[in-house]
Amino acid sequence: MKLISEQKAIELANRRKADFAAEIGERFEHAAKSCETCEVKGSCCTDVHFVNVRITRLEARAINAALGELPDEVRERAAERIKRSAELLKNEKRAEAKFACPLFEGDMGCLVHGKAKPLPCIVHACYERPEHLPPDELLAAEEHEVLKLERRAYGRNSAALPIPLALETYR
Ligand code: SF4
Ligand code: SF4
Repeated sequence: MKLISEQKAIELANRRKADFAAEIGERFEHAAKSCETCEVKGSCCTDVHFVNVRITRLEARAINAALGELPDEVRERAAERIKRSAELLKNEKRAEAKFACPLFEGDMGCLVHGKAKPLPCIVHACYERPEHLPPDELLAAEEHEVLKLERRAYGRNSAALPIPLALETYR
C-alpha cells in the first residue's frame, strides 16, 4: 500500500464527502423534511439523548483543520464546547454513549457543513417513510473508502470515537 501525506488524505476524504453529500441530496433528500423550515432546527445535533456519531482519526483531523479556518471567536467557543463534552464522555465506555454535538453553533448550524462533515451526518435527515431512507450499504461503502484513506495516511486504522473525544484525542 502506497502511503500518502495526512494533508493529501484529508483533501481526498473531504472531496469524497462533497461528492457523497451531492449524491445523497440528489437521490434521497427530496423525500425528507426540509431543515430550512424545521420547527426544531438543530435539535438533531444538540439533543444529548440522540447524537452518537463516532469518527475516525482522519475525520477528526479533517474537522480540526476545518475548525482552524473559522474566525477566532467561533473557534474558541467550539473549542470550549468540545473540551466540556469530551470531559463528560471521558469515562463513558458504552458504545452507544450519546452527547450534544459541540460542532453545532447557534445560528451558524453545523460548523463543518460542506467541509468535513461526518458521513453519518451527511446521510441523516428526517424521512417520514423508512423506505425513503438512503440504504445502509451506501453509508457503509463510503465509510469503507474513508477508512482506506486513513490507512494510506497512517498505515493503520484507529478505533472510531465519539466526536468530542476524537477531536480532543487527534488535535
Ligand atoms: S434533520 Fe430533522 S430535526 Fe434536524 S433540522 Fe433537519 S428536519 Fe429538523
Ligand atoms: S457534526 Fe454537524 S451535523 Fe453532525 S451532529 Fe455535529 S453539528 Fe450535527
